[in-house]
Amino acid sequence: MTYDFDLFVIGAGSGGMRAARFAAGYGARVAVAESRYLGGTCVNVGCVPKKLLVYGAHFADDFEQAQGFGWALGEARFDWSTLISNKNREIERLNGIYRNLLVNSGVTLLEGHARIVDDHTVELGGKRYSAKHILIATGGWPQMPEVPGHEHAIGSNEAFFLEQLPKRVLVVGGGYIAVEFASIFNGLGAKTSLLYRGDLFLRGFDKAVRLHLQEELNKRGVDLQFNSDIARIDRQADGSLLATLKDGRVLEADCIFYATGRRPMLDNLGLENTPVQLDKRGFIEVDEQYQTSTPSILAIGDVIGRVQLTPVALAEGMAVARRLFKPEEYRKVDYRMIPTAVFSLPNIGTVGLSEEQAKEEGYSVQVFESRFRPMKLTMTESQERTLMKLVVDAATDRVLGCHMVGPDAGEIVQGLAVALKAGATKQLFDETIGVHPTAAEEFVTMRTPVSS
Ligand code: FAD
Ligand code: NDP
Repeated sequence: MTYDFDLFVIGAGSGGMRAARFAAGYGARVAVAESRYLGGTCVNVGCVPKKLLVYGAHFADDFEQAQGFGWALGEARFDWSTLISNKNREIERLNGIYRNLLVNSGVTLLEGHARIVDDHTVELGGKRYSAKHILIATGGWPQMPEVPGHEHAIGSNEAFFLEQLPKRVLVVGGGYIAVEFASIFNGLGAKTSLLYRGDLFLRGFDKAVRLHLQEELNKRGVDLQFNSDIARIDRQADGSLLATLKDGRVLEADCIFYATGRRPMLDNLGLENTPVQLDKRGFIEVDEQYQTSTPSILAIGDVIGRVQLTPVALAEGMAVARRLFKPEEYRKVDYRMIPTAVFSLPNIGTVGLSEEQAKEEGYSVQVFESRFRPMKLTMTESQERTLMKLVVDAATDRVLGCHMVGPDAGEIVQGLAVALKAGATKQLFDETIGVHPTAAEEFVTMRTPVSS
């Protein structure tokens, strides 16, 4: 049977774009459907605009710290609408680049909502297209608990387009997005509270990292309220919001921002027309090669709910394109040692196992830690401290995890991830000559374990 396309990709986000471009590069006839924005979540309402806002928020520190180096500044004023309109212009520029990348790689771009009709057919804009393989790369969407009044709250999609910087913000959640946006709002001058339902935010990260960030955010004036959850939200006559907590306390705010995880984007996708199965959490179930329960339909990225990070979606997209159209170059995605950063202020960078995970996995661990005031801050009033931590397998000397809270943590941990993937031992770290004077050199100069 002949098909209109060898591969029909639904979603031009991180994973879909990568799969489409690589498949076309290998000579496949490829279409990609996109209903909203080229580049997907990461480019439009995720990694990229978020990082731009974090840069914006960090200037507050820079202005303050500059004084220690002899700079006298007038009163610094911040204009939210300038930041947002410049951010929007940059995202439009990136959208254009993505369009060119697709078109120049020979991919047919179909703009509109795609719906699967059967195992080999997709409908878009009233037209039907047949394809040998269909790849679902539709990503995720913010999810919010349905407390009474939740319609008055916003999620991350809206946060990027607020008309004004709210004066008082309640951020709900204790994951990546919550701590990043609490840092953004606080840095830009909003009175910011973060409400998390558990004892300590960033579940799954190393405990020392979580405690260190808690301390640093407290120092910066973020009001951290753990073991707190909203029971209802009411809008008052003056437009402000009242959040009644489950423990009966009432907090007032101008903006309530939920960052309580993301669900798979399956809206009107037509999965009911296929035997595609979902897992217990509602994400698309796939095997090792991203094949769903329908052999012609594959799925990658946030919609399969494995690791919701752009570089992972990219790797999965590339793996699918190679397996289908360049099998001699196919390599399985390795989910071990995925480095990650949380762009809170200060940043977190981490790769490998936390101390708690290493112990759970049965390792006998040695822990090395360094806490210090970054050199740049020694001539300033800032009391911010950096944490660096190595988790080492006492039996083999292999470094199992590297963790950092401090400036540029993500940049530093990316390089260390290569070492960990290569199986570096602590001895190899010790034998590596540092770059002086940097913060990063601490990772190769920690000699005495703090615990074993
Ligand atoms: P997406 O990028 O979400 O792309 C899916 C695309 O499919 C979208 O463009 C959507 O419009 C389209 N689509 C959906 N349904 C249809 C349909 N039926 N028809 C046609 N098109 C459809 N990750 C990092 O690694 N680093 C970060 O710093 C980071 N920051 C983040 C900050 C925020 C606020 C958020 C929300 C996420 C962040 N992420 C970050 C996560 C990252 O954005 C996602 O992991 C990544 O975008 C997933 O890529 P994807 O291809 O699976 O889906
Ligand atoms: P996360 O899964 O990281 O965190 C969700 C948070 O919300 C958790 O603290 C969770 O608590 C809490 N929560 C969940 N449900 C409820 C509820 N009903 N009531 C109250 N609290 C609740 O999700 P995010 O939305 O922060 O981000 C989604 C994903 O996007 C991340 O996991 C990450 O993969 C990706 N991302 C990556 C970034 C990066 O790389 N820098 C930045 C932003 C996002 P509990 O811990 O108790 O379950």
